Amino acid sequence: MRCAAHLAALGDALASIVFPAHCPACGAYVEERGGWCAACLSRTVQPHRLAVSTEACAALDGAWAVGSYAGALGKLIRDLKYRGRRGALPYIHAALLAAKLPQEIVSADLAVCVPLHAERQTERGFNQAELIFAAWLKAQGMSLSESLARSRATAPQYGLGERARIENVRGAFSLSLAEKGGALLAGKRILLLDDILTTGATLGSCAAVLRKAGAASVYALALASDRS
Ligand SMILES: [Zn+2]
Repeated sequence: MRCAAHLAALGDALASIVFPAHCPACGAYVEERGGWCAACLSRTVQPHRLAVSTEACAALDGAWAVGSYAGALGKLIRDLKYRGRRGALPYIHAALLAAKLPQEIVSADLAVCVPLHAERQTERGFNQAELIFAAWLKAQGMSLSESLARSRATAPQYGLGERARIENVRGAFSLSLAEKGGALLAGKRILLLDDILTTGATLGSCAAVLRKAGAASVYALALASDRS
């Protein structure tokens, strides 16, 4: 074990000589792999509250995004999701840990990730929201509950208008088998997690199931949003 740790450290040292660590936004050299330069980190990590007054978001008490999808966060998400590049994760984790989030988000009792359909998860090999928020949840001491399941496959939300997005995910989520009856959720303040929030239709559809199961409140946190 110790030998493996030494080898890993040696590997990291060699990698930093051959591939020096650099900021994911501007490419400037930085000290640590996974680190950002200070200017890009403060430009990228801009937590903001999103309006939840629309029909898509009706079941949410509030929603926050850590930053804009248009910049470096969007690229890191696409690298992870569509190219399977887990090397994007240390940058994502650093951005999340740098975000100052409000009490309504950090004081949740329990976190729930938006689930993928089983087939999609097998094909991709991971649920991106679980990987994205793993380090942040650990730092918060917040546990993750696999309370939700995607009961049917849905078409990608990308490119659909708000009305079509609501219809696309209507009834697509249910309580997972382990959570039938929602005993774990009753009276709890739930934090729903996803990589991106666009109209909020997916998060809203999940929130409706959690509310029905007795959740006291449901707030959403997305890594990135293309809404201001
Ligand atoms: Zn930079």
